[in-house]
Amino acid sequence: MSFASETKRELAHQLPENACCKFAEAAGLIRACGSLKPAGRGEVGILLTTGLTATARHMKLLFFEITGTQPEISLAESGAQHMKRRFQVMLPASGRITALLERMGILVRTDEGFFTLAQGISPQLTGSKCCRKALLAGLFLGAGTMSDPVRGYHLEIRTQDKVLAADIRRLMNSFADIHAGIAPRGADYVVYLKAAEQVSDMLGIMGAGVHLLAYEDKRIMHELHGQANRLFNCDTANMDRAISAGEAQLRAIGAIERGPGLSVLSAKLHEAAAARKANPEVSLSEIGTLFDPPVSKSAAAARYARIEKIAEEITSV
Ligand SMILES: [Zn+2]
Repeated sequence: MSFASETKRELAHQLPENACCKFAEAAGLIRACGSLKPAGRGEVGILLTTGLTATARHMKLLFFEITGTQPEISLAESGAQHMKRRFQVMLPASGRITALLERMGILVRTDEGFFTLAQGISPQLTGSKCCRKALLAGLFLGAGTMSDPVRGYHLEIRTQDKVLAADIRRLMNSFADIHAGIAPRGADYVVYLKAAEQVSDMLGIMGAGVHLLAYEDKRIMHELHGQANRLFNCDTANMDRAISAGEAQLRAIGAIERGPGLSVLSAKLHEAAAARKANPEVSLSEIGTLFDPPVSKSAAAARYARIEKIAEEITSV
């Protein structure tokens, strides 16, 4: 199973605690992978599709909790040897579902009493931070993917709707240090993150804690492997001197200070640099506990790896 599918499986195995967040996550799922099915009499149903069993089960549970009605699940197979399996989760048209869509700001009632489809994400879903997180989890579950950290750092949510893409970007960027971009892909738009730190932050925001740690571990292995290769390839005289991690980090921090200054660092890297300057001797696992909030050894190592990379880029110019 891919790293992306495993991450989604983790997200799919947890329901948000608060009713407001359940509501927001459901709205994210509808926007990401749902379509509306009008059935006359002003009543509308919802059809959600997903390729993952865990996501289908999650949708069933979530929508049952919100609406009190049991969604119907069916399996649609297509392609050669029915290799493309899709689950369809159907909420039949009813006044209750129509009212739900109206409360989510997905359907808007016109002055004449008709319903029209609203674009983008309604501000009533993004009022509190807990709901913004849940909304992102729903959007990622329905239309997101990410690369395995050993291959590259990339997370994206794909949509056909330009307005929705702009709203998803704004939603992501409402969290500290997240800078999402938008790129066209075919007829679609992709809202993406491509910096390792931001991808790992986004996993934490969406609530994929286990995969956040797996991501950091794989990432640090990847970076250490790269460093080992670089060391191996460079002058062997340098290798004779064993340099403690702290010394190397202090040197990198010093290089940045002498160059553009520590203000070029993100808030998290800045915090790591300050902690190292104040505590030159402490180990990586120890220094992580000094951060606010405290981080794991691998997360601390990842921050210093970033600082060293920045210093390397500055000094190689
Ligand atoms: Zn909430």
